[in-house]
Amino acid sequence: MHVSDGQQGIGNGVGHAVVFGGSIAGLLAALALAGHAERVTLVERDRYPERPEPRKGVPQSKHTHLLLESGLRAMLRFLPGLDEELVAAGAQQVRSPTDYLQNMRDRWFARGATTSTTLCLTRPLLEHGVRGRVLAHPRVTAVQGTDVVGLTGSADRVTGVLLRERGGERTGTAPTRLAADLVVDASGRSSRTPEWLEALGAVRPAEDRVESGIGYVSRVYRDGSDGALTDARLVYLVGETTGAVIAPVEPAGTHMITFATPRGEPLPTDPEAFEALADRQVHPLVRQWIDKAEPVSPVYGFLRTENVRRSYDRVVPEGLLVTGDALCALNPVFGQGMSTAALDAVALDESLTAGLPNRAAQTALLAASDQAWTISTGADKARPGVTGNAAGRTLRDKVSSWYLGRVQERCGVNTEVQTTFRRVLALLAPPSELFRPAVVRSVLFQKGAPAGAEPRLRLAGERVG
Ligand SMILES: Cc1cc2nc3c(=O)[nH]c(=O)nc-3n(C[C@H](O)[C@H](O)[C@H](O)COP(=O)(O)OP(=O)(O)OC[C@H]3O[C@@H](n4cnc5c(N)ncnc54)[C@H](O)[C@@H]3O)c2cc1C
Repeated sequence: MHVSDGQQGIGNGVGHAVVFGGSIAGLLAALALAGHAERVTLVERDRYPERPEPRKGVPQSKHTHLLLESGLRAMLRFLPGLDEELVAAGAQQVRSPTDYLQNMRDRWFARGATTSTTLCLTRPLLEHGVRGRVLAHPRVTAVQGTDVVGLTGSADRVTGVLLRERGGERTGTAPTRLAADLVVDASGRSSRTPEWLEALGAVRPAEDRVESGIGYVSRVYRDGSDGALTDARLVYLVGETTGAVIAPVEPAGTHMITFATPRGEPLPTDPEAFEALADRQVHPLVRQWIDKAEPVSPVYGFLRTENVRRSYDRVVPEGLLVTGDALCALNPVFGQGMSTAALDAVALDESLTAGLPNRAAQTALLAASDQAWTISTGADKARPGVTGNAAGRTLRDKVSSWYLGRVQERCGVNTEVQTTFRRVLALLAPPSELFRPAVVRSVLFQKGAPAGAEPRLRLAGERVG
């Protein structure tokens, strides 16, 4: 056990741990804790559905949720065999870049040998699969339909949470106390821990915000082209202010289309306006795909896409940790949030094993999201009209953005550059890999893929894996 500054190691004698927020970050944190604590109570505001269905507390679950290989690997550490279970339930392993039609800045990436896989499925199916296993753990107890409404303790030490049954504020029900040796906040973007810390006399964490103003709209379609348009399985287009993803989901034969909408534009949640977004993409493929498909869901919109990171590592009292979106929420354009939540759980597990002091553990959790934060905010800072206290571009940001722009242009012509860039985006390799001599040589001296070219719609008959 490592102890410093008189702080006890967090792994030392955690009898009872409470996690609040029982979505991806909270479920995985509960599982990490279950390997160390005598018992774990998971408090969730919603009542969980019996089947894989969207629920109120996770409104983003009606939008495309890709699971990167880094996130899946981290989940498998706690949940061996999860991938096979999800695939049996309809999830699909999509090979990257082999099965991708990817365009960034009007340049198509090459489709070639597989370097990683992305798990495509609906968000409710993923959560259902993870939840079933977590709630079956003998040391985890879920308290559903219950809000955490405050923290107990002092400015120096959190000793538990205040609970109230959902809707209890209307009937005037008084909150009850639940004591804990360790409390973990996994309540997502709208976490109220900063104000609860102030109420205890503790310091509120500083907050970095970068807001692109991008909105998301999604709808599910039954495929109609039967592979006639392309043999690619995932279409991923990222423009400066708009973008589109066509991703396979369960049941077989359905895809979810998500469009990113520009800052300041009203969310087009009526079907006609939604489909009109297809005409604003870099290639008519999305329009052609929609024209052959049949919609099977309403259009859903979502506006909370701001990047927000809170510096709990500097102020968190003993007995409290913060994880997932409550710690670091990202613009979903790179699909990194759930993977980051899983990497947070690994950091929590390792901190408990090492017996790190509380703030060191919180520092490790923050570090687990650092790469995703740099990628997401780096891209957003370069968008027109971006706001937020951390949105200013330093000289370093401008140089990085120039360099990454050239990297993306070379992804269509240089396999090594593309593989490296994809592995960095997928959180499988550190950004420093982009400065290996072979990548730098290509970025500086090789000609990039031409803008406005045609994508490679078919690989059929070619050897790719
Ligand atoms: C439009 C959109 C698309 C996305 N696409 C992707 C993607 O492709 N890939 C990816 O990896 N990530 C994606 N994300 C990010 C992903 O949704 C989150 O990062 C991920 O769900 C982890 O979040 P979380 O568990 O921290 O919080 P959330 O998923 O937001 O869950 C918070 C939970 O806390 C509960 N809760 C809240 N307050 C309380 C309280 N006081 N007491 C008790 N319970 C409470 C809520 O009911 C909920 O269950 C996307 C996000 C958005 C917005």
